Amino acid sequence: MQNNQTNRKTVMHKDEILRSILLSDELPTLPTVASKLITLTAKEETTLADIGELISQDISLSAKILKVSNSAFYSFPQQIGSIKQAVSILGMNAVRSLVLSFSFLTMKAGTVKSRFNFEAFWEKSLASAVTAKLILEHTKGVDTEEVFVSGLLQNLGELILARSFPQQYDSVLQAVEDRHQDTFAAEAAVFGINHSEVGLEVAQHWGFPDVLLIPLKYHHHPEEYPGQNSTIRATVRAVYLSDLLVKVLYSQHPEVYHKQFRKEAAKLLGLTAESIEAILNEVHIKVKEAGTYFNLKIKTTKSVQEILQEANIRLSLINLDYDQMNKQLILAKIHLEDLTKELEDKNKILDNLANIDGLTGVYNHRYFQNVLDQEIKRSLRHNKSISILLIDIDHFKLVNDTYGHQVGDFVLAEFAKTIQENIREYDTLARYGGEEFVVVLPETSCEDALVVGEKLRSVIEQTGFQDNREKYHVTASFGQAGSTPAAEDNFSKNDLIHQADQALYEAKEKGRNRVVGYSPKKKWYTF
Ligand code: GH3
Ligand code: MG
Ligand code: MG
Repeated sequence: MQNNQTNRKTVMHKDEILRSILLSDELPTLPTVASKLITLTAKEETTLADIGELISQDISLSAKILKVSNSAFYSFPQQIGSIKQAVSILGMNAVRSLVLSFSFLTMKAGTVKSRFNFEAFWEKSLASAVTAKLILEHTKGVDTEEVFVSGLLQNLGELILARSFPQQYDSVLQAVEDRHQDTFAAEAAVFGINHSEVGLEVAQHWGFPDVLLIPLKYHHHPEEYPGQNSTIRATVRAVYLSDLLVKVLYSQHPEVYHKQFRKEAAKLLGLTAESIEAILNEVHIKVKEAGTYFNLKIKTTKSVQEILQEANIRLSLINLDYDQMNKQLILAKIHLEDLTKELEDKNKILDNLANIDGLTGVYNHRYFQNVLDQEIKRSLRHNKSISILLIDIDHFKLVNDTYGHQVGDFVLAEFAKTIQENIREYDTLARYGGEEFVVVLPETSCEDALVVGEKLRSVIEQTGFQDNREKYHVTASFGQAGSTPAAEDNFSKNDLIHQADQALYEAKEKGRNRVVGYSPKKKWYTF
């Protein structure tokens, strides 16, 4: 129901448009000779002499026709001296075709300014006419003079619409340009009618014969022509193909239309590969020539080959640009990743530097505090024991005093290195301060920690630190504290450190170079 209504609306709209086009002041009128010629040629009894007489009345038109008749456009061997002779040699249809062509090519823009480019329109139309003629010249068994004017007028409807509705047609052109919409679709969207229908209506109004009307109607869809007339069918198809070839010459994507042209020319008219090649090679020359015969300035003089080469280069340039752009992006990304990595590494180093004691290369006091916090939390979570060993070098002051501060430093560094080499990977050695060190021993009971302490004490006792002068020997005292912390115990890190400190004090008290473990009731464990 709704569909019917919409359809009726569209039809009415179409009729209205066509009526207003035909009544419009902007509808071009056919020059007298052209319109009389159409009437004459439609009559059976018309003779060649009648036509010759009619055309001769228009001197300037006669001169133009004689010029073309004697040109390479027809390439007749003998000189044609009069219109009568032209009509008899070229034939009635060819002359009519020429008269119409000249009549149309002088049609200019309407009074209202618009985007529609009339010069470009006629240039393309002339190219279509020449191309359509060229195509049929290469088609076997077809001889038609109408194809030229059919090609010329195939888009007549565009010109009529643009003259009658300049503003609306601007929006069609805009849509074609902006949205790459097909002209037919854009016209239908704006007017509810396309240029094919308009052209047909106007040409009918002018009294055009069928042989000219049918190509106007079917040139966008040649397969829809239902008739059996082989001449008309070939004309329709040639006009359709000429449109493709003109798009090779004038559009932004010649390569697309070139492919399509080759395919459809073989399919629709059975053109051989050689014929197609010949057409493609000749077309630009023919169009240029026709421009001079019909007094039309033709811009394009490039050959199809050149046009396709240029398109190819353009395409490869676009691809190259894209590839290069891609490469640049990848390089930039890699560079950025490198920078980020570098920054991360530097930050890691900085972080590490902040955690490391400059003299000995082991962790510093701050880091020890953090590690101990974390390890205590972990012990709480997993209900595991934790121990620490506080280590103080015995009589270190004496080393400084005997050998100097530099040797003292050397001994400190070697001492730390020795301890480091003798603990597990997941134990943490830090410099607690001065000549004191601390080892955090995760998952280590008090007993085990005492064993570790004893081992370290023994290693230190037996190790001599050799510089280029002497071998230095030190001993150290160890205070051990440990726990299996539980949440309810109110366990504190500082308590643990304090206990280790007390044990260390005890070790010193007991004569140094020994390991003492803390026990709450001051029952010291020693090794
Ligand atoms: P004790 O057995 O009682 O621990 O005797 P000690 O001499 O080791 O103890 P004391 O605390 O009296 O002296 C520690 C010395 O360690 C004093 C200080 O100059 C020295 N010291 C601390 N830090 C450094 C350092 O970075 N380099 C050097 N060369 N000496 C240091
Ligand atoms: Mg000390
Ligand atoms: Mg000391």
